[in-house]
Amino acid sequence: MLGEVDKQHERGHNSTLSFGKAPCCYLSREAGVLLGVLMIGVVVGTGLLVHYLAPHTYPNLSTPHSQHFDVDVFAPPRQEKRADARTTSKPLSSHHSSPPPPPPPPLPPSTTSSPPSTSPQPDVMKGQKKESLSGIEQKTETEGKEEMTHEERMEWLRLPLSLKPLHYLVKLQPLINGNFSILGYVEVEVEVLEATTNFTLHIADIITNNNTVKLMESGVEEEEGLGREVVIRRHQYDHQREFYIAHLEEALQKGNKYTLSMEFTGLLNDQLHGFYRSNYRNANGTEVWLASTQFQANDARRAFPCFDEPGLKATFEIHLARQTNMTTISNMPIKETIHMVGGEGWVWDHYHTTVPMSTYLLAFVVSDLAHNNSTDLDDILFRVWTREEALPQANYALDIGPRILTFFTDYFNLSYPLPKLDMVAVPDFPALGMENWGLVIYSEIGMLYEAGVSSAANKQLAGMVVSHELAHQWFGDLVTPKWWSEIWLNEGFASYVEHLGIDHIEPSWNILEQFVIRRLQGVFVKDSLHSSNPVIYNAMNGNTIIYSKGASIIRMMNHFLGDGTFRSGVSDYLSTLKYDNAVSDDLWEHLTLAAHRDGTLPTNLTVKTIMDTWTLQMGYPVITVKRNNDGNSVTVTQERFLLTRQENSEDTHDYKWWVPLTYTDQAEADFSQTQPKVWMKDSEAQITIPHLATKDHWVIFNLHQTAYYRVNYDLHNWHLLTSQLLSQHTAIATINRAQIIDDAMDLARGGLVPYATALDLLGYLPQERDYVPWWAAFENLKFLKNMLTYTAGYGPFKRYVRDLVLPLYSTMGLDDHLDDPVLDQYMRQKAVSWACFTGLPDCLHHALAAFNAWRETPHRNNITANLKSTVYCHAIAEGGEEEWRFAWHQYLESNVGTEKDNLLSALGCSKKPWILSRYLEMAFNESSGIKKQDARRVFGSVARNEVGQPLAWTFLQDNFDRIHAYSANALKGLMKSVTTSFNRETQLKELESLHAAHKGQVSSNPLDMMEMLERVRHNVDWTQRHYQEVMAWLQNRGYHTTLPTHHRPSDSQRAHG
Ligand SMILES: [Zn+2]
Repeated sequence: MLGEVDKQHERGHNSTLSFGKAPCCYLSREAGVLLGVLMIGVVVGTGLLVHYLAPHTYPNLSTPHSQHFDVDVFAPPRQEKRADARTTSKPLSSHHSSPPPPPPPPLPPSTTSSPPSTSPQPDVMKGQKKESLSGIEQKTETEGKEEMTHEERMEWLRLPLSLKPLHYLVKLQPLINGNFSILGYVEVEVEVLEATTNFTLHIADIITNNNTVKLMESGVEEEEGLGREVVIRRHQYDHQREFYIAHLEEALQKGNKYTLSMEFTGLLNDQLHGFYRSNYRNANGTEVWLASTQFQANDARRAFPCFDEPGLKATFEIHLARQTNMTTISNMPIKETIHMVGGEGWVWDHYHTTVPMSTYLLAFVVSDLAHNNSTDLDDILFRVWTREEALPQANYALDIGPRILTFFTDYFNLSYPLPKLDMVAVPDFPALGMENWGLVIYSEIGMLYEAGVSSAANKQLAGMVVSHELAHQWFGDLVTPKWWSEIWLNEGFASYVEHLGIDHIEPSWNILEQFVIRRLQGVFVKDSLHSSNPVIYNAMNGNTIIYSKGASIIRMMNHFLGDGTFRSGVSDYLSTLKYDNAVSDDLWEHLTLAAHRDGTLPTNLTVKTIMDTWTLQMGYPVITVKRNNDGNSVTVTQERFLLTRQENSEDTHDYKWWVPLTYTDQAEADFSQTQPKVWMKDSEAQITIPHLATKDHWVIFNLHQTAYYRVNYDLHNWHLLTSQLLSQHTAIATINRAQIIDDAMDLARGGLVPYATALDLLGYLPQERDYVPWWAAFENLKFLKNMLTYTAGYGPFKRYVRDLVLPLYSTMGLDDHLDDPVLDQYMRQKAVSWACFTGLPDCLHHALAAFNAWRETPHRNNITANLKSTVYCHAIAEGGEEEWRFAWHQYLESNVGTEKDNLLSALGCSKKPWILSRYLEMAFNESSGIKKQDARRVFGSVARNEVGQPLAWTFLQDNFDRIHAYSANALKGLMKSVTTSFNRETQLKELESLHAAHKGQVSSNPLDMMEMLERVRHNVDWTQRHYQEVMAWLQNRGYHTTLPTHHRPSDSQRAHG
């Protein structure tokens, strides 16, 4: 799965400085209460259909029935919450949309047998006190319940080990054009691993009828198709763990097989998880509804009762009902379509039984979406689906998809195992893409690309997401982690090999160079916080550590093992464990076998020995290289790199790593050897490396930054590197120039190198013409920008940046060509974006002129796709209501996801507080025309705007509960975007009190909130330690914070620029 705001997919929104974003990849599990309430109303309001559920003949909802039945509601809430549910959960009515489904009638008298619960969610983070290295010691305070550690709670959430699901039959009839309920039936056959009197499986937001639950023993009197029924003594619903438990009269016997069946009613929710509803407006302006799924990590249980853990693989026979004017898609091809008895205008699509797979990879789409077929693959049906009007935008995905699939088949030396692959872009989707086996689902920007309208970055994004999800067909789908703590095996691999797939298709993108800045450097800052987490970490949700650090350490392995060894080890791992589950040790074992076979590791060293230090510990080392007195040897030491040292830290773990050392010096200047010359063991505090060039020659460690560590040098070596960059920077490999910039700036940020040393080093940038070093510089300047925005130093800083970027801006120019090399297009976008940020008159003039020309002829937009976000943003920033309204109108009109995306971000660039306040209100009201999934994009663009930031923060504080109810899973992203530039004590206090007031509501992972707090504490600390230091450096170079006390004409002229 790939989150929408993953850092690697920089799309240059908001033209100023909106680039790096943290990933967010999974859905939070909020709002179950509200859904539960809504469902009671929905079902009752439509005639209590549960009695009519029968495997093959579901009635159409047009006939109401009102018979009494016993309903067991999964999430009966408190009375006062019910009013909220109806006002916040259903689609908001508006003059823009066609009439919503009939509102639910008054709630029925409670007939539930399950106890009331205030929350059906696994409240993983209530009252989290402290996160340790692995989270093991951390205690969880629960309200009135016993204390549980994070690990204990994660264990407590697991299903009992007594049953193993073998096969499911799932029948679902989603009433897309009705009241959004789902009529369902499930049968699941299990094998008993340990005798038990409980039959426990997952269920959430589902209404069952206890009378329909049947448990039959298999193999008994099967000829008559009856079996022997096991009597259920009591039905229990455990809301916290989302369990249904059938308490049985007799014990199920080990080795025997049983089948549980039940009828149920679910809901096509509007929360973009489980089986959910989505809509769009077609070419005729008609609102069209469809249904899609998103099950990772644990939302399959919202679609049907199941054993919803990744390790519990089974086969699935899926039946989906549809109206005849729609289509259904699932993981496998359709076996047959049959008329629905008693369902006029309805049919059932019966699907072929799946291969053994995990529940979170199942998927269903029921829609009127259109599709195109590829003819590139002989034996695999490959199709792309999207809104009919957007179908041409799917051509790129249709072109590259089959080629990437073929590439991975070859790379992993293992065939794609299913007979077909569908890729679907749905109008509402909570992530960029999701790798459901044989049915990959994307958001529109994750798959669609319109030549001439979308930018080069949009194209790269679509390419990378497609490559990522197709890599998952092997890593994740075919071989699946045993539990979520090993999810890095999925995400780390997909996030690494997606680059190999794209490099094969689009070699001109230099994507392997881009990896270093987007993935490795992109995660370094987060991983230098105390609130980081190890790659192997027991939580339901992935984060950037799991994705980007995971990918970075896999790349490191690829280099220290060598390509041949790495590939054969990976291929053995996949083919040995196909259709099964794995843990990291399985991968280490296969890679070690390959390494010993090939002689790339000594026989007394295993991959596990090395990699345990990178996966079980959080953080990473800074390797310090100091020249010895003899002049041609160096002493190398390692210690954990932290941005801020905590004097009173309770973390006593001795952080040491197995470090592959590669290096070169000025005399040799050979950057090609990326297999280690020396291993630094985790037991070694320091080592000496002899035979380097003499003292007046520089040394560089970590060639091409293939290993996951930073390098610090003695000041003499830093000065030698700076001199080299100034005299002839290309003597140092491109990636290593980016590495030196990023290391120097972050070491300065952490207090290990003087800022003067780091900023002096950036002085060569006016000569730099490569994208990757510039990116590293911009990312680090962005941090300074965030720290200085509300200080007296902001003006001098902007003038400094303008001088730095001006030569690049002049060289790249504004004349954009879509057939230029992609990295040149990116470079131009960056140069223009930063030049306009500094207020360069030429840049602003061109931006306004281009925008105004578009306003003159609204149906002909000549602004080049790459510069749209910058042009839109600055035109709206400089303009007023008229410019804003024009852009808003264009947003409503546009049929292209990427264009809508650009406009939504740019609309947050206004400098008018009242416009921004109005925009914030619109973001959390779907009737405004802004989709729920885009709320965080809108909020983020306002929060990153220096005028909007205080407004966004106040809005968030004032409307926390409303935002939480509207889109709980967006909260983390909103909080991150608005706190990025917090660096004052008062802001820290406000954040702390918000955290205290809303414990557990921002994210289900307690580390997310701890990270935000730690970042702000770091910013406060940085301001105290380094603000004056940076100001002094600027002052020394003529960028003054103070104004002259006497008027001189030349000053006013200069200030005007
Ligand atoms: Zn993924």
